[in-house]
Amino acid sequence: MTETRHTRLLIIGSGPAGYTAAIYGARAMLSPILLQGMQPGGQLTITTEVENWPGEVSIQGPELMQKMEHHAREMGAEIIVEHVVALDLSRRPFRAECDSGAAFTADALILATGAQAKWLGLPSEERFKGFGVSACATCDGFFYRGKEVVVVGGGNTAVEEALFLTNFATRVTLVHRRDSLRAERILQERLFRNPKITVVWNHVVEEVLGEQAPPGVTGVRVADVATGETRVIPCAGLFVAIGHAPASELVQGQLEMHHGGYVKVEPGSTRTSVPGVFAAGDLTDHVYRQAVTSAGMGCMAALDAEKFLAAEAGGSAAGLAAQ
Ligand code: NAP
Repeated sequence: MTETRHTRLLIIGSGPAGYTAAIYGARAMLSPILLQGMQPGGQLTITTEVENWPGEVSIQGPELMQKMEHHAREMGAEIIVEHVVALDLSRRPFRAECDSGAAFTADALILATGAQAKWLGLPSEERFKGFGVSACATCDGFFYRGKEVVVVGGGNTAVEEALFLTNFATRVTLVHRRDSLRAERILQERLFRNPKITVVWNHVVEEVLGEQAPPGVTGVRVADVATGETRVIPCAGLFVAIGHAPASELVQGQLEMHHGGYVKVEPGSTRTSVPGVFAAGDLTDHVYRQAVTSAGMGCMAALDAEKFLAAEAGGSAAGLAAQ
């Protein structure tokens, strides 16, 4: 028989939104349980330096997330390595089933499952995933020592990945579909100053080229968006950094969403279309998507959840407001 545990407040996700919700939930004496998911610490665990977390001029992403986890535990949150595979929001208590067979029921739920990397959607990209095609320079950059690589994208992630890859690769080519980047100015300046990096503007990746036995990438065919003219950029690796999509599969068809699968919340709150279910961070935010804004939303979600539970119990949320 598998164990089913009940908690007043269940938090799913372990990025800045989840851990902040856990800190506030614990301080509100709700004894929250946080389920970490497949990637404890979330996306920041696969980045390098973080330079925009207030109070830390520069900190490694994994270290920042370890600190947040430690903080949440110290406040009294229970943090469990479980991956939720099914959620039932149709009745209360809400029910979460995990891949281990464990199940949790909860009076209130905070969803903070974040986002995951998007792919180009090319059959050749699929064929070489893990054999030269990657969405994580921090994870795989080391394999490209002394080799040439291509990064595709024009946002902060693409520029950070390109810069990071210069630590290993002899040459990094950034392929972008427009003639300007959307990355922050400070990152753009670092990119343009780096002699190992070349930017190929107004081009899209059409095909990943490579060999099958043993599998490996030898280049990418890119096309000019204006003329359609194609050419091959030789490389041993392609890093796809074209943004992220919300990890909302668990609540598909159960909660109202925006286009693109972002969970809809009432403006100025974290309340979703199901009373007692709150959403925070990249799962719901398609505008700011920063660690610090996610953390802010995690705080809001805990405050909203506490207010919801207190109203149900006929109590008051005044205690939390004073925290
Ligand atoms: P993003 O800002 O959405 O940028 C995605 C980039 O990929 C854009 O340049 C976009 O081109 C391009 N793109 C999208 N689909 C494409 C396709 N099918 N083919 C080719 N190119 C495509 O995503 P992100 O860079 O992952 O950043 C996500 C969020 O996290 C942002 O809010 C960012 O600020 C934040 N972030 C912050 C930091 C930091 O503060 N240090 C680091 C990483 C990420 P267009 O420009 O033409 O749309």
